[in-house]
Amino acid sequence: MIPVFKPLEVPKRSYLPQDFTITTWEALAPYVQQLIDFQFTTMESFSQWLSHLSELEAVISEDACWRQIKMTCNTQDPSLEEAYTYFVMEIEPPLKPLAFELQIKLDRSPFKNELDTAIYFPYLRSVANAIALYKEENIAIQADINVLAQQYGATASKMTIHFQEKEYTLQQAAKFLQSSDADIRKEVFELISSRRLEDQQLLNDLFNQLILKRNQIALNAGFENYRDYKFKELGRFDYSVKDCFEFHEAVKEYIVPIQKKLLQHKKSLLQIQGPLRPWDTNATPKGQKALSPFTDGKDLAAKAIQVFEKLNPYFSSCIASMQSMGRLDLDSRKGKAPGGYNCPLAETGVPFIFMNAAGTHGDVITMMHEGGHAFHSFLSHPLALSAFKEYPMEIAELASMSMELFSLEHWDVFYENQEELKRAQLEELERIIDVLPWIATIDSFQHWLYTNPSHTEEERTQAWIATLDKFSTQEVDWSGLESIRAASWQKQLHLFEVPFYYIEYGIAQLGALAMWRQYKQNKEQALSNYCNALSLGYTKSLKELYQIAGIQFDFSPAYIKELAAFVTAAIEEML
Ligand SMILES: [Zn+2]
Repeated sequence: MIPVFKPLEVPKRSYLPQDFTITTWEALAPYVQQLIDFQFTTMESFSQWLSHLSELEAVISEDACWRQIKMTCNTQDPSLEEAYTYFVMEIEPPLKPLAFELQIKLDRSPFKNELDTAIYFPYLRSVANAIALYKEENIAIQADINVLAQQYGATASKMTIHFQEKEYTLQQAAKFLQSSDADIRKEVFELISSRRLEDQQLLNDLFNQLILKRNQIALNAGFENYRDYKFKELGRFDYSVKDCFEFHEAVKEYIVPIQKKLLQHKKSLLQIQGPLRPWDTNATPKGQKALSPFTDGKDLAAKAIQVFEKLNPYFSSCIASMQSMGRLDLDSRKGKAPGGYNCPLAETGVPFIFMNAAGTHGDVITMMHEGGHAFHSFLSHPLALSAFKEYPMEIAELASMSMELFSLEHWDVFYENQEELKRAQLEELERIIDVLPWIATIDSFQHWLYTNPSHTEEERTQAWIATLDKFSTQEVDWSGLESIRAASWQKQLHLFEVPFYYIEYGIAQLGALAMWRQYKQNKEQALSNYCNALSLGYTKSLKELYQIAGIQFDFSPAYIKELAAFVTAAIEEML
């Protein structure tokens, strides 16, 4: 059922003082310690302990989120950065071991067996899993890994190029790859590529260390390799290594051919005679104006509310309530951190959307996407425990990616011109088709990396090229650029910073396509299923959540084939 929107009340605390805010670790510590020392003798006192723990978690989480929000909204105020750093350096480190003690206390309690497994099962499983993976000797290695992974960010953020007498970060420079002038695209592509190659060896050295240390962590925890360890650590209970391999094969067989056709179509629009080159794939055809869907953040919010209203007033009311509480910061401006996110605020229940809108079509997608995350925050907020709202990526991204597709038919709010509307809609489907093979490439490469941990740099390069070739459309000509292609894995942040965390996007993206197919068949039903699934947070397995959403948790070749046929038909309607 799609709920009727009710404004949230100010939360009443039952454990912490109502006016308590997190200032120092010394002020917080007694409340954590009190929970560790708490003796539960009855089921009732155990339940009360659980709800106190949940309240403490919500207060800490909301506090940490606000520190991050305030800092990213204004990076020029050093006191905001200090407040955030204080949390990371002074509160989190002493909190972690105590939080672990609390997990052990929960896991060892005989009362846990009396909890309703229909709701508590995923929570108790996560706790048991974290305890099982805990190894004292891995703490220091993990700290080393965190420092190394940070070096990737530091190295990448320093990369800039000079073009037409101005300096650009590589993210900023990427906009020139959309130019309709092939000379500009080629020049900027070469500048970006040679800048990356300057740090190639440095990043290779860094990666060598990461592979060794991650492998050691897995061996210490009793696993054969880091891949198998990481599957457990990421809580992948609903799918296996074999399922991932099937996903790779199915994407190669059913998605890459669609991507190939779209590239051929692009080539004809661009009127390119020879083969496509790497700097052509994002080009804009000559004479085509850039899409201009809204003027500023205020306009974006107003139009987003209109779009969501057409889906259901529940959704528009969510965004409107965020707006009235000052929980939308959409405009790009000097002194704001890059990127976009929805931050759930665990205690008050009304999330915060942060983004850097500059009037582009990409911003519309971001708004629809973050809107989906926000609805997930609202829908799951009434659940009794904070832990029930710790849902994994496979369902979180289903919420956001489905909302991009549900809203697509109402983008006329942004584009009055029919042709522009079609272009915007087609771009969304193209983006989905482009991303799936890339996800398969990165995931497949990681399986190789961590099951062959003693590989040499040369072997790594060969494995990367073979993986790229496997998922290639053969439509882009890389001749003369082989060294750039061979090092191109280094631009993927996830490989360095969050290993194996990538196929989740692919799973959710397929799920979102299935949700869209369901929506096209029966809108009311699809939106109702969507709300039902999201309001369960993580109190059911992923398989069950997908089922409640009205779709299958499946990435077998037969299923991907079906979805590919559905997208192909949708694309053909638009071409
Ligand atoms: Zn997202």
